[in-house]
Amino acid sequence: MRKNIVAGNWKMNNDLAQTQALISDLVEQTQTSNAEVMIAPTFTNLYSACEALREANIEVISQNMHFAKNGAYTGEISACMLKSIGVETVILGHSERRAQFGETDALLAEKVNAALENNMRIIFCFGEELNDRKTDNHFNVVKGQIKNALFHLPESAWKNIILAYEPVWAIGTGETASPEQAQEMHKFIRETLDNKYGVDTANSVSILYGGSVKPNNAKEIFSKPDVDGGLIGGAALNAIDFYAIVNAF
Ligand code: PEP
Repeated sequence: MRKNIVAGNWKMNNDLAQTQALISDLVEQTQTSNAEVMIAPTFTNLYSACEALREANIEVISQNMHFAKNGAYTGEISACMLKSIGVETVILGHSERRAQFGETDALLAEKVNAALENNMRIIFCFGEELNDRKTDNHFNVVKGQIKNALFHLPESAWKNIILAYEPVWAIGTGETASPEQAQEMHKFIRETLDNKYGVDTANSVSILYGGSVKPNNAKEIFSKPDVDGGLIGGAALNAIDFYAIVNAF
């Protein structure tokens, strides 16, 4: 059975002291939940977060990584560096990386390969822009993003892939896809996987929704049959809000 997952993407927020404070708050909120819980602090705080959460039911994950193992890539971090501090999962393809740092499907395919070669799990993000939805092109865009970065993979790779549908128009805007819009797209994604890899793989992949998920809308969104959790931005920066979302399962 596929897993329910709630992952917090902290983006470029929280220095060391703030990271430690938020982690203490999170640990206070932690209780048995029906979802796997993950947080993605900034690179500089990953190690201390891993140390602080060693005994907790919260996985520390990375917001990004480079595809190369090492070398002349100033400012970058590799999969083996992440693994060496205990990070086993990486977010790839976030819309902010695509829009602000020029990450293309081809580059993301290389990052995906590197993460898998290092036995890492991937939360792979994709989603349409507002104009794509207005012009009824959102299904094509989403299918293209998945196909271009992931469809070269063998079926066996999919046990390490989590998908995150994040319509760009809903990220950080306070505007969320309706539960019905999320379900419609998640169902389409699962059908796309089914057509390529078969029903068993399609049914085993967790598909998260991201885009202004808050305590007051999480329950309804997560109640949809093809929505297996959330990738949370703003609301992940407050432990009470984040756990209210986790406990929506
Ligand atoms: C995100 O950045 O992945 C995200 C979903 O942000 P927010 O929840 O703030 O919309």
